[in-house]
Amino acid sequence: MSDPAIQRDVILKPYTTFKCGGPAKYFAEPSSEEELVSLLAFAKENGLETFILGLGSNILVSDEGFDGLVIRIGKNMGGVSVEEDDTGAVITAGAGAPLSLLGNTAVKHGLEGAEFCCGIPGSVGGAVYMNAGAYGREIKDIAVSVTCLDDGVVKTVSAEECAFGYRTSAFEKEEDKRIILGLKVRLTRGDPDKILSYVEELKTKRTTSQPLDVPSAGSTFKRPEGYFAGKLIDDSGLRGFKLDESGAQVSPKHCGFVVNNGGTASASDVMRLIKHVQDTVLEKQGVKIEPEVRLIGKF
Ligand SMILES: Cc1cc2nc3c(=O)[nH]c(=O)nc-3n(C[C@H](O)[C@H](O)[C@H](O)COP(=O)(O)OP(=O)(O)OC[C@H]3O[C@@H](n4cnc5c(N)ncnc54)[C@H](O)[C@@H]3O)c2cc1C
Repeated sequence: MSDPAIQRDVILKPYTTFKCGGPAKYFAEPSSEEELVSLLAFAKENGLETFILGLGSNILVSDEGFDGLVIRIGKNMGGVSVEEDDTGAVITAGAGAPLSLLGNTAVKHGLEGAEFCCGIPGSVGGAVYMNAGAYGREIKDIAVSVTCLDDGVVKTVSAEECAFGYRTSAFEKEEDKRIILGLKVRLTRGDPDKILSYVEELKTKRTTSQPLDVPSAGSTFKRPEGYFAGKLIDDSGLRGFKLDESGAQVSPKHCGFVVNNGGTASASDVMRLIKHVQDTVLEKQGVKIEPEVRLIGKF
């Protein structure tokens, strides 16, 4: 069995788009399923909790960090391949591939349906886990099957079995310990010029409405049933709000984003602001908003 390098006390801040958070006691990036299995065995032998990290674009890691083994599924496990047929193609992507690579591969092959993937800064694994989506489409709409590691055994599950819902899937449930290894999507052939111009249109929408030049984890809050979190926050008078000069702020550009200006805020600064936003929205609008961002470590 291969033996991947395990590092000690690795600061997680650079591995997250929020640009804050403390160290992982142990950290490793496997290059194969075999290495992943051996890392899980190491964690078990040493009684360590594990956390599977993708591109870190939907997490807030506490300043204390994570007292266990962080396994980062990155580009070493991120191959992408295309099998074309008469009407379109099936694209197979490893969990560590950026979702944008899947989207761009589809564009390059004149395949439609994955344009929304181009602007989401997560990995394929993270996108399956969260059923990532944008502009009316989500992973659920294109997924055929998902490969995962289930208690040491590689299994393929159908899209239906993934139980995709709004920013959730079967994998996201607390008790589900499966690790996503890859995704197969089915796309149909389209007009390459139209596909490209749609990608450009979505890109413009995103850059004009979202603070992409400032660290964040995207939409901080889930959309509450019947509302938009950003509108509730705006209506509560919190556009551009900050509690202090730490760097944590409700984005003046998009109220649904809490941002970390200059990457200077700590995770607890960000968390204090998140709590303040939740309390204010509840008090002023009577609606409870919950973080979409996954909280890692102790808060
Ligand atoms: C600027 C910006 C814009 C964004 N826009 C969107 C958007 O339009 N739509 C959208 O849906 N999201 C959006 N996001 C959020 C984020 O990109 C998605 O949720 C993405 O799917 C997270 O993927 P990740 O690889 O970064 O996951 P991470 O943040 O690394 O992890 C998120 C969760 O997934 C789990 N996970 C990751 N990989 C695996 C795996 N292989 N197996 C099992 N579990 C795994 C982790 O354990 C964790 O619980 C945005 C974020 C930013 C910063």
